[in-house]
Amino acid sequence: MDYDLVVIGGGPAGILGAATAARKGLKVVLLEKNDKLGKKLAITGGGRCNFTNKSDGETFGRNIITNGKFLYSALNAFTSRHIIELLNTLGVKARLESGGRVFPASGQSADVLKALQKHLKDSGVEVRYNSGVRQLLSSDGQVTGALLSDNTRVKSLSILVATGGASYKQTGSSGDGYQFARQLGHAIIGPRPALVPLVVREGWVLELQGLALDNVMLRVAKGGRVKAEQSGELLFTHFGLSGPAVLNLSSFLTRNFSFPLDLSIDLKPGWSGQQLNKFLQEHLLQNPARSLKNTLSDMLPQRLATAILALAGIDGSRQGAQVTRGEREGLVSALKNLAVTVSGTRSLNEAIVTGGGVSTKEINPSTLESKIIRGLYFAGEVIDVDALTGGYNLQIAFSTGYLSGTSAGNIQ
Ligand SMILES: Cc1cc2nc3c(=O)[nH]c(=O)nc-3n(C[C@H](O)[C@H](O)[C@H](O)COP(=O)(O)OP(=O)(O)OC[C@H]3O[C@@H](n4cnc5c(N)ncnc54)[C@H](O)[C@@H]3O)c2cc1C
Repeated sequence: MDYDLVVIGGGPAGILGAATAARKGLKVVLLEKNDKLGKKLAITGGGRCNFTNKSDGETFGRNIITNGKFLYSALNAFTSRHIIELLNTLGVKARLESGGRVFPASGQSADVLKALQKHLKDSGVEVRYNSGVRQLLSSDGQVTGALLSDNTRVKSLSILVATGGASYKQTGSSGDGYQFARQLGHAIIGPRPALVPLVVREGWVLELQGLALDNVMLRVAKGGRVKAEQSGELLFTHFGLSGPAVLNLSSFLTRNFSFPLDLSIDLKPGWSGQQLNKFLQEHLLQNPARSLKNTLSDMLPQRLATAILALAGIDGSRQGAQVTRGEREGLVSALKNLAVTVSGTRSLNEAIVTGGGVSTKEINPSTLESKIIRGLYFAGEVIDVDALTGGYNLQIAFSTGYLSGTSAGNIQ
């Protein structure tokens, strides 16, 4: 055999897996199809890399959308504290931000990537660039190696597939791992887009493109009961809606709902309808000669105020004193329950993560080894796991990478 372990994919999962295995004394090669490692990692968090989340275990669990229980061993073997400490020893200081999100203090994802590359080098991993794997080789239920795109073979009795999901293909994650796993008898769930912007039918939404709102509540109801809700930031775009609250909601929608569906936006989630009505009434009384449009602009960005008035069918140039009770109630209803029709999502390629992947039913959660083929391991987004925004997805990649690295490979 050429190597004790072959790792396919130089993203966060593959890097951690390869370095961890090499530190046990294994001869490890990491095969990356690009001419550099971590192309996706470099664009995470808007280039700032929200690399983990420091929230407690329970909160962490709530933020994992798919197969949280499966991840239990991995997340315990290598926690947010471990990645913060590892990066710290490699010279990257961490900065804690709201909601437990952790970023490099420098605000540069490049620093995280450089540190991880140093970790690989210090661990003695051989890295081969421009080395795309085409197919896995196996014999009698045991992996035996990998066939590369240039038709060369690399022999090993242990292979870690860390090829990522199938979104942002330009970064190298083009779903190859699903093919490898399927060819060896594994079931693939989906894939479907997760953390993906939503496409909306209403023209007024598109006209608000570029407008961001800090704190809204999004709700999807079925048969009069709320089935999914998310609060946070919303961004209007030229096709519909994006921003953290929308991305998080989308992960539930693409998993459990079919499109089109009705979405309700609560623009003032901190206030009940009654409180809002009272506030409006008092505000209008105090400003009797002021136009309704201007009064409303105290509460909302002007462009949104204009759109809300048009939707409620009220002439915004009317003075506060002229507004009827019915009109005021109509306004409150528009502010608390702004209805839009979601026709679908943007494409899988535009998803921040891929939902679905190699079925967790066929992977041992304690070792991340295939239950079907001996010596085959999986780590990172290629597995059917996904989480909300906040650093959880990268932590999943690091943790599964680490666990697979501790269990994969036998010294020949
Ligand atoms: C725009 C954007 C922003 C994000 N921001 C955050 C964030 O701030 N926080 C967070 O937690 N998560 C974030 N994510 C998600 C996070 O980046 C991924 O979940 C994570 O990178 C998955 O790691 P991975 O190692 O499993 O796969 P990847 O990072 O996708 O790495 C897979 C690697 O495998 C290589 N590869 C694929 N096929 C082959 C092959 N056949 N042969 C050889 N090599 C191959 C690829 O080139 C790639 O280098 C973001 C994602 C995107 C797209």
